[in-house]
Amino acid sequence: MSDLQDLYQEVIFDHNRNPRHFKKVDDANRKAEGFNPLCGDKLTLYLKVDEDGIITDAGFEGAGCAISVASASLMTDALIGKTEQEAEALFSHFHGMMMEEGKGGDAQRLGKLGVLSGVREFPTRVKCATLAWHTLQSALTEDDPEPTVSTE
Ligand code: ZN
Repeated sequence: MSDLQDLYQEVIFDHNRNPRHFKKVDDANRKAEGFNPLCGDKLTLYLKVDEDGIITDAGFEGAGCAISVASASLMTDALIGKTEQEAEALFSHFHGMMMEEGKGGDAQRLGKLGVLSGVREFPTRVKCATLAWHTLQSALTEDDPEPTVSTE
C-alpha cells in the first residue's frame, strides 16, 4: 500500500472515530435527510445560514459506515464560514472528483476533502462518500424545508 493510501485511511479513520460537528444544530434553518440503502448509511444534516447566505454552523447526526461518517465530518468542517454559492461549488468539485476519472485538479482544489478520492477505487463505496454531499445539495436547493434524499 502506498503512503498516499495510508494517509487517506488515516484521515478517514480519524474522522470516523472522532467525527467533527456530530451534533444537532438547534437553531438550524436548513435540514435534510439522506439515506444510502446500498450500505444502510443514514444521516440528518443541519445548516444554519445567515441573512447574507453564509453558513455559520453545520452539524450532522446519523449512523453509517466509516466512509459515510468521515465524509460528513470532513464536509461539515469545510462548510462552516462558506457562502451557499461556495458550498455549491464545493459540491460540484467533490462530485467531479468522485465521478470522473482523472480529475486530479478537483482533488487538489478540495484540500483535505481530497483524501476521499481514494474511495473511487472501491466503486460500491462511492455512494457512501457522496451521501452527505447529496444531502447538502438538497438542503441548499429544495423548497421542501425537510427533504429526504436517497442515493438510489
Ligand atoms: Zn456506507
